[in-house]
Amino acid sequence: MDDIFCKIARGDIPSCKVYEDEYVLAFLDLGQVTKGHTLVIPKKHSTNILDCDEEYLGHVFKAAQKVANALIKTYGATGVNILSNANESAGQSVFHFHVHIIPRYGNDEYLELGFKEHDTSNMDLKAMAEEIAKNI
Ligand code: AMP
Repeated sequence: MDDIFCKIARGDIPSCKVYEDEYVLAFLDLGQVTKGHTLVIPKKHSTNILDCDEEYLGHVFKAAQKVANALIKTYGATGVNILSNANESAGQSVFHFHVHIIPRYGNDEYLELGFKEHDTSNMDLKAMAEEIAKNI
């Protein structure tokens, strides 16, 4: 598998690097949903969070924390969304695992994440939790 983020990880395609270590690379997202929007990727290919090995997963999230705190320090972000789309139905467009670090400034209401809560009074949440837990 050799996708665009594999090429960025190897340095074959340029990126605006924010952080790098043996396992991960963090670079600015070309789309800049908000100022400082950064992606963290593992250097070893995986399609998304669902198939990433645990070692790399840990390093990706450690780097995500570093980047998030740096965005707060650098640009005065007041919050941050850390998210990862897995598979097409969830909006994934580049099929190399990446975590979006999207700094929030309190005035970026145009970024609508669109979570809408349902009335769960008719749902058996306890049974659902048990069903899921059986598959972990
Ligand atoms: P997703 O839709 O979650 O798969 O996100 C893919 C992200 O990659 C989008 O936000 C794009 O703006 C970003 N992107 C695609 N190509 C590049 C690139 N060459 N350098 C930086 N960001 C990129």
